[in-house]
Amino acid sequence: MKILLIFLISLNFLFNIGCKDDGHSTILLWKHGRIPYTMIGLNPIQAQILLESMFEWQIMTGSSVTFVPKKSGDEKFLTIINDTKNDSTYIEAYSPGLQIMQLNCWSTRRAIRHGLGHVIGLLHEHQRPDRELYIHIEPFSNCSPTAMYQIMVYPDDVYQYDYKKYPYDKQSIMHYKWTDICEHALLNSEGETGSEDISILDAKKVIDMYEDFKEEEKKGIFNNFDEE
Ligand SMILES: [Zn+2]
Repeated sequence: MKILLIFLISLNFLFNIGCKDDGHSTILLWKHGRIPYTMIGLNPIQAQILLESMFEWQIMTGSSVTFVPKKSGDEKFLTIINDTKNDSTYIEAYSPGLQIMQLNCWSTRRAIRHGLGHVIGLLHEHQRPDRELYIHIEPFSNCSPTAMYQIMVYPDDVYQYDYKKYPYDKQSIMHYKWTDICEHALLNSEGETGSEDISILDAKKVIDMYEDFKEEEKKGIFNNFDEE
């Protein structure tokens, strides 16, 4: 079941966050919150925007996650590729030791913050199992299977943290805005959904997810925790 879920979530990249797909969703955690990265094809301005977004996640989470340039010994790392092809909205290149985040929308920092949220391990807030208590999403009859993956409800056991501990967060960077979703479905919600910024609850979830690593570090215990 979990393998199937990873597959479905992996397909969940056709994300219109003001432009085309933004990032990579993962259930795996980065050991000790350390995320080695490399960049391919980024110009200095793009690199600067990306580094600032990485820094925001680090600051917001009290360094529960840290982005560091890849070293030669790093087997698992993030590759950020600048892709300018309009129709190239999807990439699934997760393999042991390699995670690729394809960005073709540098005009919005929201897409980059959101994409990094996926890299860290966060899932879409609007796909929470209890979302119907807060919003209602009704797929159009011609909604494509791929789009359905973006709006389906996740089962409980896919999370790396206890989502029930947190209030439903319409301001999450991981929540679609109405404009992101309306190509595929109707979204009914009181109040606006989606935000430009990482929310406090986004940061708390990351801290929660990576807490065990912090505890291990305090105790001087290190083990392979990331390949669940
Ligand atoms: Zn997304």
